[in-house]
Amino acid sequence: MLTRRGAEVRAVRIAADFEGLAGLVIPGGESTTMLRLLERDGMDEALRAYAAQRPCFGTCAGAILLARSVTPAQSSLGLIDIDVMRNAYGRQRESAILCGPCQLPGGELEMVFIRAPRFTRVGHKVETLATRDGEAVLVRQGHYLAASFHPELSEDPRVHDAFLEML
Ligand code: GLN
Repeated sequence: MLTRRGAEVRAVRIAADFEGLAGLVIPGGESTTMLRLLERDGMDEALRAYAAQRPCFGTCAGAILLARSVTPAQSSLGLIDIDVMRNAYGRQRESAILCGPCQLPGGELEMVFIRAPRFTRVGHKVETLATRDGEAVLVRQGHYLAASFHPELSEDPRVHDAFLEML
């Protein structure tokens, strides 16, 4: 999606990969696995140092990593003032593609939820950009953006465009 929108992208796998990056996407996947991988070779400190300075966009498991607090309890970066509950919309069978209200210009947004977390508390300094059944699913605070869904799996580029604007 970012390439389609004209951005140059590369994977970040070791601390040195942060060098010269304008922004970071922390993708979906399995947050427990990502936490384990972050323990290797100083990646955790490198990510924290990078994220303190530069825009970060977490999708699904990435949003779980950015959150202040996680249920069931696991560590997180605490960069966005939200609490999340993992897998709270149900397991794989309950994964769904839904449309919901969105504050980004252009109205309703298609959202692909895959074993998605629920944002159970949204701090008052956090901006809600899209909702599902009245609950925040796309939020922004300072230079951090988090989606409980996977905007890269829809055709609509507005969420990634919003992130590119933050760069
Ligand atoms: N269920 C995963 C987790 O808790 C997130 C799923 C995803 O990223 N699509 O980490």
